[in-house]
Amino acid sequence: MRIGSKPGPEVFGIPFRGKMIIYAPLKRIAFVANRAMATLVRDLLDGRVPALPSPTASVAVELLRKAELLAPDPPLTPVQSPAEFTPTSATLFLTNRCNLRCVYCYAYGGTLSPVDMPSSLALQAIDVVSRNAVKRCVPGFEVGFHGGGEPTLNWDVLTAAVSHARRQPLRGFVSMSSNGCYSAGKLSYILDNFDGLSLSFDGPPEVQNAQRPRATGTSSFRAVMKTIAEFDKRSFPYGLRVTAGRSTLDKLPDIVRFLARHTGAKRVQIEPVFRRGRGRPVAITAGHARAFVRGFCAALDVAAAHGLDLSYSGARPDLLTTRFCLSTCEALVVLQTGEVSTCFEVHNVRHPLARHFLVGRLQDGQIELDRRRWLRIANRTGDRIRFCSDCFCKFHCAGDCLGKTYCAGGVDRFRPSPRCVINQELTKHLLVRKMAQHHGMWLGQTSARIGDKP
Ligand code: SF4
Ligand code: SF4
Repeated sequence: MRIGSKPGPEVFGIPFRGKMIIYAPLKRIAFVANRAMATLVRDLLDGRVPALPSPTASVAVELLRKAELLAPDPPLTPVQSPAEFTPTSATLFLTNRCNLRCVYCYAYGGTLSPVDMPSSLALQAIDVVSRNAVKRCVPGFEVGFHGGGEPTLNWDVLTAAVSHARRQPLRGFVSMSSNGCYSAGKLSYILDNFDGLSLSFDGPPEVQNAQRPRATGTSSFRAVMKTIAEFDKRSFPYGLRVTAGRSTLDKLPDIVRFLARHTGAKRVQIEPVFRRGRGRPVAITAGHARAFVRGFCAALDVAAAHGLDLSYSGARPDLLTTRFCLSTCEALVVLQTGEVSTCFEVHNVRHPLARHFLVGRLQDGQIELDRRRWLRIANRTGDRIRFCSDCFCKFHCAGDCLGKTYCAGGVDRFRPSPRCVINQELTKHLLVRKMAQHHGMWLGQTSARIGDKP
C-alpha cells in the first residue's frame, strides 16, 4: 500500500512479520519499521510533524531526512511511445513446427497446421531494423528467432537470415530461443554464427523428459545435455529458461542445483506455466502462486550458493521502468505469415488477443502499420493503470506482461493475473535479501535508471 494521502514521494508500506517494510522504489530505499516508525513516516508524509517529538522520534526524523525519504522523488520519465515505430530489433517467428511436445506449450507447438516463414519475409524484416539502426545512429541492430515452434526446423530460412544480417553495414546481434535438440551439423553452425541463445531446459531427466518430450514421445534430456556440453566447451554465451508447472514447484531448488552442477550456465530464468495453449491444465493459478514463491525462494538460496544468477520476469527491484518489456516499441515481431505483433505471446492470427495485438503487416520491405491499434497497445504503460497505482512493484513490474494482463473491455485495458501475488511476494523477498546484505537499511543507487530507452 502507498503510504501518505497527499501527492508526493512514492513510499509504500509492505507488511512483514508483524512489522512494515518502508519502501521508496524511486529513491531505492528500503528498511523495516516497527509500528511507531511506520506511523511516524505516514504522519510526516501527510505533513503532520509531531509537535513535541520524543528524543527517539527526533532521531528517527533526522534519519529519515538524511536518507531523503521525504524529499521529492527523482524523475522517472515514463517511456513515451516514439512518434514513429522504428524498431531496431527483429523477432522472427520462423515456424510453428516443433520437434518437441512440451506439455505446457503456450503455442501448441508442433500440432497446428504447419506454417513456415519464407526467407523473403525474414530478409525484409532484417532490412527494416538494420535501416532503422542506421537512421537512429545506434551502434547496431538485433535479430532474434523466437518460439511458437522450434526456429531451427525452418533451417534454410534461418541460415539465409543470419547471412543477410551479417551483410548489413552495422553489426547485428543474432540470438534465438530454442529447445536445444539439434543435429551435430546445426549445433556447429549455431556455435559459429550466433551471438547468444536462450535455451529452454527443465533440468533433471525425470523433469525434462516428463515436461518436454520429443514429438515421438521419447526423451529429450540427452540431446539437450549434449548441446549444453558443446556450448560449455566453446564458452558460448547462453542462458537457461526453466518452466515450472504444478508438479515441479517443490522441485525448483533441486532443479537449480542440478543445473549448477551439470551445466556451465551463468543465468537461469524460471517462469511459471501460464494459462495458454497446452499449459491450461498445469498452469500456476492463484492457488499455486504461493507454492511457486516458496519454491523460487528456496531455489534462490541454492543459486546464490553456486554463484548462479536466478531470475523471474515479474520480480526485478533493480529495474525502474514504466513498461514490462520493450516489444511494443523497440521490436519488430513478425509472424510466419507477415503479421506484425506487439507481443511475443501473440503468436498467430487465431490467438484470442490477435485483433488487438496484431498491428500491421510486413510487406514490400515496409511495415504497414495500423497506427491507432498500435498506439492503443503502446500507450498502455504501467503508470497509466489505476489498479497498479497502489502497488509497490509498479515501477518494476509496470503492469506485467501485456499478453497476460491485457483486457480489451477492462478498466485501463488491464486484468490482474495470478502473477500479481508472485510478483509482489518475490519482489518483497528480494528486498528483504537486499536489506539483510546492507545491515537492515538498503540504500540503492539512485542513478540507476535501466530498462527505459530514451
Ligand atoms: S514450448 Fe517450445 S519446444 Fe516446447 S513444444 Fe512449444 S514451441 Fe516446441
Ligand atoms: S500487475 Fe500486479 S504486481 Fe504488477 S504492478 Fe500491477 S498490481 Fe503490481
